[in-house]
Amino acid sequence: MNSFTYSRATAVEDAVREKSTHPDSAYIGGGTNLLDLMKENVERPVHLVGLNKLPLTTIEPTPDGGLRLGALATNADTAWNEEVKSRYPLLSQAILAGASPQLRNMATDGGNLMQRTRCYYFYDTATPCNKREPGSGCSAIGGYNRIHAILGASEQCIATHPSDMCIALAALEATVRVSGPNGDRTIAFEDFHRLPGNTPERDNNLEPGELITGLDLPAKGFEKNFTYLKLRDRTSYAFAVISVAAALELEGDTITDARLALGGVAHKPWRDKEAENLLKGQPATADTFRRAAAKVVEGAHGYEHNTFKIELAKRAIVRALKQAAEGTQQASDVFLNSNP
Ligand SMILES: Cc1cc2nc3c(=O)[nH]c(=O)nc-3n(C[C@H](O)[C@H](O)[C@H](O)COP(=O)(O)OP(=O)(O)OC[C@H]3O[C@@H](n4cnc5c(N)ncnc54)[C@H](O)[C@@H]3O)c2cc1C
Ligand code: SF4
Repeated sequence: MNSFTYSRATAVEDAVREKSTHPDSAYIGGGTNLLDLMKENVERPVHLVGLNKLPLTTIEPTPDGGLRLGALATNADTAWNEEVKSRYPLLSQAILAGASPQLRNMATDGGNLMQRTRCYYFYDTATPCNKREPGSGCSAIGGYNRIHAILGASEQCIATHPSDMCIALAALEATVRVSGPNGDRTIAFEDFHRLPGNTPERDNNLEPGELITGLDLPAKGFEKNFTYLKLRDRTSYAFAVISVAAALELEGDTITDARLALGGVAHKPWRDKEAENLLKGQPATADTFRRAAAKVVEGAHGYEHNTFKIELAKRAIVRALKQAAEGTQQASDVFLNSNP
């Protein structure tokens, strides 16, 4: 690991100033991703701005009936928070499907949004990677690409976004609150993360120096009919091969509102509004769910080792929607053997 200096901020404006005055610096929350990247020489900040003394750990109601999650609230405190559990159980279940208890005790909500892809080549500095070193090439295209994207990829990068929490946040239409050198602003969750296009080195739309200060959840939590379905190679401590956040509102058997977001398939949480529209006003039946699933994978493209994900995504969507309609909370412990 390279040597670096460290300072700890106690106010948001100090953190932003510290970051702006130190070129090549990085914020550090729980450190569960950044420190690994530093140990592997993928990231080499010369200065770290510690965030864990910022007064951003609270989870509190917003005036419009929603809930604000402080960016420094830990994933564990968020998942087990009574308001989150009762009003946004989809979010709670998605967080608990990720990582391990120890990691969730350290990981922060802001850091979760910023975690980087688990593409093997991104971590291996001996191989070309456009995300790590723009213009060097993509080792995953034509390489071992079992965990890679089937939607929204580019010729520059086929990496996937690894978070579970973010898939639920996409489905719930959260808003990201940020502070930066030019002041405060909010970013709709769907506009926060990016597709790779010709700039795979950029994961999101934060401007230089901007700090995530919180996440706002709208009043609507889909607390009755939801599922977070995570398919993975091991039953715990493994990233999603495919995950589905499904949330429905029902009047009798008719779907009056629907949200559908997928993880493990694209460079960002993949929400499909056209598929959601195919669900609205329809009976909650397997046929309806199959039509929505077919829509989601309409433009999907597989590579040598991940083509199986297209069919798997369809089946996962149908299953997640069925569970959501039935009020079955989740099935995160679904084991996916290496030969699905
Ligand atoms: C073995 C292992 C298994 C895991 N499994 C899963 C899993 O199954 N599902 C899952 O979703 N996640 C998983 N994770 C990832 C884990 O959830 C993330 O590492 C964690 O959420 C990152 O949060 P952090 O606070 O530790 O971030 P840090 O490591 O501190 O920071 C990560 C990045 O975010 C930036 N950053 C941090 N806070 C802010 C902020 N407030 N504003 C702006 N930038 C900020 C940092 O500069 C850095 O670039 C796993 C991690 C490990 C190590
Ligand atoms: S998929 Fe993206 S992160 Fe992985 S090697 Fe290619 S450019 Fe790098």
